[in-house]
Amino acid sequence: MRKLPVYIVVDVSESMFGEAIDQINAALDKMIAALRRNPYALETVWLSVITFDSMARVVSPLTELADFKFPELRARPGTALGTALDLLRSQIAKEVVLQTEETKGDWRPLVFLLTDGQPTDDWRPALARLRSQRPKPANIYAIGCGDEIDFEALTEIADATFYAKEASPELLAKLFIWMSSAIQSASKNASNLGLVKDDLTPPDGIQEIGDDYPPAPDFPRQLFFHATCSTTRKKYLMRLRYFDPLGMYVPAASYKVPDDFLDDGGYVPPTVSSDKIAGMPTCPHCENQDWACCGRCGAGFCFDAASSLRRGWSECPVCGARMGFADGRDSFDMTPSAG
Ligand SMILES: [Zn+2]
Ligand SMILES: [Zn+2]
Repeated sequence: MRKLPVYIVVDVSESMFGEAIDQINAALDKMIAALRRNPYALETVWLSVITFDSMARVVSPLTELADFKFPELRARPGTALGTALDLLRSQIAKEVVLQTEETKGDWRPLVFLLTDGQPTDDWRPALARLRSQRPKPANIYAIGCGDEIDFEALTEIADATFYAKEASPELLAKLFIWMSSAIQSASKNASNLGLVKDDLTPPDGIQEIGDDYPPAPDFPRQLFFHATCSTTRKKYLMRLRYFDPLGMYVPAASYKVPDDFLDDGGYVPPTVSSDKIAGMPTCPHCENQDWACCGRCGAGFCFDAASSLRRGWSECPVCGARMGFADGRDSFDMTPSAG
């Protein structure tokens, strides 16, 4: 039986932390359930899931639909799109028998690439390596969610590019249902031409991007900072959102993160002046509302302003340096995480 390989390549960068990743987990689960109810899909579809943050990982190798077990996705810093393309290329080479003039092989793989941010690595050489393969290794459909998409990258990589402005749970659910119907239709009419255009008509709220795509914003709409809780010494991640009426970043959310939460894979984003930051989110571990940046090691940490003021200093939970409050009001440059 010729298989129809389907690769789902998901950006699990920090911007996915919290609800977004839970929603994607739930939407993928539903998509697989829908595919399993379709006899054509059951016969032909093989699925693989690849995620990328500062690294790319095969979280599930190409597996027959009936045996596919869905892994829980976890968010981490970084958006190494180029690394993901290289991994995709080597997985296809390993797992798929491409059709040539002499061999029938498998159907040409379908790749769904989901991202909500801008790549933090140089993806162009990886794309060139993928493109240089003969026969054409895959049909790639890219879906950008949110308002920080680098459509220049996506339209260059993908055969067709789609845009979902709001990554709401409803829209994500629709998106995965749409992907599953595209896969079902491809499995029924499997041909090496890939999907016919009609199969690609997206649902409301998701539009196809042509040559006039929205530009990537020239400054980040969201910032992420890593911090350590002074009370529990555990790590957390703060999300800030740019608020146009103020012209500043305001607190959006904070999340507990695992102790092995990775660093940004060498990518250092531009610094931001503390003048641009209207406030930091509350610590998710101990509810401290105040935040400081260590003058010695640069670590961000939560602290309790009232008791620190009584003492006259606060202590960095990472390096132990003690800081007074004398220069607390000067502005300084802050280095966010890769996002
Ligand atoms: Zn805390
Ligand atoms: Zn320190």
